[in-house]
Amino acid sequence: MQLPREVIVGKGTLSRVKEVMQRLNLSGSALIIGGLKSCEVAGKRVRDMLEQEGIVVDTLIVDTTTIRDVLMVEERIKSWRPRVVLGVGGGTKIDAAKISSFRQGVPFISIPTTLSHDGIASPLASVKGFDKPYSIMAQAPLAIIADTDVIAKAPWRSVISGCGDVISKFTAVKDWRLAHEERNEYYGEYAASLALMSAKLLIQNAEVVELGNDEGLRLLLEALISCGVAMSIAGSSRPCSGSEHLFSHALDMGNCPHGMHGEQCGVGSVLVAYLHRSNWQRIRDTLKRIGAPTTAGELGVRDEEVVKALDVAANVRPERYTILHKLKLDYEACEKVAKATGVIN
Ligand SMILES: [Zn+2]
Repeated sequence: MQLPREVIVGKGTLSRVKEVMQRLNLSGSALIIGGLKSCEVAGKRVRDMLEQEGIVVDTLIVDTTTIRDVLMVEERIKSWRPRVVLGVGGGTKIDAAKISSFRQGVPFISIPTTLSHDGIASPLASVKGFDKPYSIMAQAPLAIIADTDVIAKAPWRSVISGCGDVISKFTAVKDWRLAHEERNEYYGEYAASLALMSAKLLIQNAEVVELGNDEGLRLLLEALISCGVAMSIAGSSRPCSGSEHLFSHALDMGNCPHGMHGEQCGVGSVLVAYLHRSNWQRIRDTLKRIGAPTTAGELGVRDEEVVKALDVAANVRPERYTILHKLKLDYEACEKVAKATGVIN
């Protein structure tokens, strides 16, 4: 089980990167992986602070997390051997830092600048172009340094997406328990409870998730970190990724424009909560309350794409037993579900 050694959350915490590196015995050299934007809002400051302390710093800009990007980062790590890799940015930058540092045996520190999904704290990374469209095991961050002053400047839509990802743990845990009951799959009560608690706390306190409210950002941040820890404890993405995630991956695999990961998982969670015969209305109402999409139109996809994604979702990961694998719905049945939940008209 890999868990972060240090989690530092709050206003102005970016200035503590050097201190954390010292405590973890990682001073000397650091490779920053970020995007143009994230380096502007955070990466440059981190670099300046570290250089002032005599730490040698190199920066590598990545736009996406394709195999090519990962190999490029790995080449830099191989030739330069930094003591630590710092992932600065949203999901893609952190994933690129996470997977490449893991493959090269170097520790990594997560410095999120947006909160769009739980990858900021999890040991899993999603890489485009690998044979698997879903996340694969990499390593947990040795430390997470989340500066809410920086995160508050990110687009609000990323916060909404992060909330959708957390709320979707409701159905992820239901699917995990189902796999345990019907397929005798390992089920970790502690990891499941942690993921479920994050979703519950967010639903109960949804009213603080509003623009300009730091309390909401902190709530989401802590929920995302807890979800990451739940996956570390479980040793897999099971507590945080069920059929709602398969639905989201199926939408990603289509050739049409689609919503953000957490937005799609939120809508997926409404659909599969209905199939689990649980309180799908509560999930939908919470998503509505925070301004997250609850319909195909709000996700920016056509009705038939939603139905098709639900129809093929189980094939994305045949070995991961969920309610979709159990029910084996056909296209017409999927359409009925989407209509019954108001996701399509
Ligand atoms: Zn997710």
